[in-house]
Amino acid sequence: VAMLLLTLRCMVIMMMATERTQVQLHNAAYHDALTGVLNRAGMSRAFAELSRQPLAVLLIDIDNFKQLNDSCGHAAGDDVLKAFALAAHTVTRSGDLVARHGGDEFVVVMPGISQEEAVVLAQTMRKAFSTATTGLAADCSVRPTLSIGVANGQALEPGTFEAILHKADQALYRRKREGRDGVDVFD
Ligand code: GH3
Ligand code: MG
Repeated sequence: VAMLLLTLRCMVIMMMATERTQVQLHNAAYHDALTGVLNRAGMSRAFAELSRQPLAVLLIDIDNFKQLNDSCGHAAGDDVLKAFALAAHTVTRSGDLVARHGGDEFVVVMPGISQEEAVVLAQTMRKAFSTATTGLAADCSVRPTLSIGVANGQALEPGTFEAILHKADQALYRRKREGRDGVDVFD
């Protein structure tokens, strides 16, 4: 009986270790290692699982991030990226999706909100980012701000995400051209 119990105990421990490894692999495959938010693959996967509903997509880019890296160091740049993730976390609701799109660019998907509500949340995110980065690299003269492009659409068939994202990208591009540090809406 003792042998049997010992064997069972070993099997349970091995199963738990396997499960833990699978969770870790899953996390690594779908999340950004630096900031902890979703990566592109994670966003595609999560978006595909959304039910049919209206939604807003925010495409967010940190302003003058290269200059910040160059003047204040790569580690300070990393801290700013992590601060963005924190700010996004404080502003988003459960069910919203936050992903690092690459470099200093992030995407937020907010199901079930109107364009007006999305703009309010985008402005709140800019303020939260400003708060989260206050005190970071205090001796650095470059203060990071956010440019945000907003577009609305519907979660439907494959290809929808890319189409809405493209619109948000056009809005973001206009904001960059017109002075950064603000929110623009695709129309
Ligand atoms: P703009 O205001 O037009 O957005 O200009 P920018 O300087 O922010 O944009 P650009 O795309 O030229 O620079 C992005 C920089 O982000 C370039 C790259 O070295 C840096 N970067 C990308 N990934 C990381 C990272 O993980 N950590 C840090 N610290 N920097 C990164
Ligand atoms: Mg940038």
